[in-house]
Amino acid sequence: MTTPGRFVPGPQHEEIVFLTGSGISARTGLGTFRGPDGLWALEPETEQAMHAELLPDTLPQLWSVWGRMARIATEHGPTPGHRAIARLGAPVITQNIDGLHQAAGSEVVAELHGSALHARCLDPECPWRGRLRPGSGSRPEDHGVPATCPVCGAPTRPAVVLFDEMLPPDALELGMRLARRADLFVAVGTSGTVFPAAQLAPVAKAHGATTVLVDTAPPPDPSMRAVFDHVIAEDAHEVLPDWERGLHRVGGTSFLDPF
Ligand SMILES: [Zn+2]
Repeated sequence: MTTPGRFVPGPQHEEIVFLTGSGISARTGLGTFRGPDGLWALEPETEQAMHAELLPDTLPQLWSVWGRMARIATEHGPTPGHRAIARLGAPVITQNIDGLHQAAGSEVVAELHGSALHARCLDPECPWRGRLRPGSGSRPEDHGVPATCPVCGAPTRPAVVLFDEMLPPDALELGMRLARRADLFVAVGTSGTVFPAAQLAPVAKAHGATTVLVDTAPPPDPSMRAVFDHVIAEDAHEVLPDWERGLHRVGGTSFLDPF
C-alpha cells in the first residue's frame, strides 16, 4: 500500500538514479559500519585493520573480514530493495561493497568503495583483478584467490577501498556523470554525509533533479536533509517495490518476494 501523500515517481522521470548505502543491505546480516551497533564499534580491531598504511601486515585481517562479508552477501542474495532498483532499470551509485546490486541484475553500478567480491594486486599500478569464491579464513586461498598476483607476483588483497585510499577514479567519474544526468535522484539507506556521497545529491539537484531520501532513520539535523526535496522515513524494501509496481502498472501480488 502506498502511504497517502508520499512522493511517488511518475512517467516524467526518465532518468532515475539511485545512491545506496549500507541500509539497503542491512537485512542480509551485513550490518552497517557506523553508529553504536556498527561493525567499527563492535569490532574496533577490525576498524584499525582498515587503515591502508598498515598494509601488508593487516592482510590476514582484511581477508578474514571482507571474505566473510562476501560470503554473507553471496549466501543471502539481494533484498527486495535491490531487486526493485534492478527491475526499474535504473543505474546505481553505491557505497556498498557487497555486489548485491549486480546480483539483483542491475547493469550500471558505480562502486565507490570497491568490491568485497573481487581481489586485486597490492601494487596499485598493477591491473590484475580476480573474483572471490568466498569461504572462511584469513588467507586469500580460503576465498579462491591466489596468494600472489599472477601478473607481477606481489601479494593479492581484497578490492575494497580502505581508509586513506583514493576512491576508484572510474567509479567516481561514473557516479558524478550519473548524478548530473538524473532527473530523479534517490538516496536509499545512506546518511549521505560521507564524501563523496555528500556531494552527489547537491550535484544532481544543481542539474535540475528532484532529490529524495528513503531511510527509516533519516538524519535529524535539518541541514543534512535540506538537499532533499522529499524525505520518506519508511522502509525502502516496501517503498521501492511500491514505486516499481506503480511505474510498471502491475498488480500488488505479481512479484513473489521471499524476503
Ligand atoms: Zn600485480
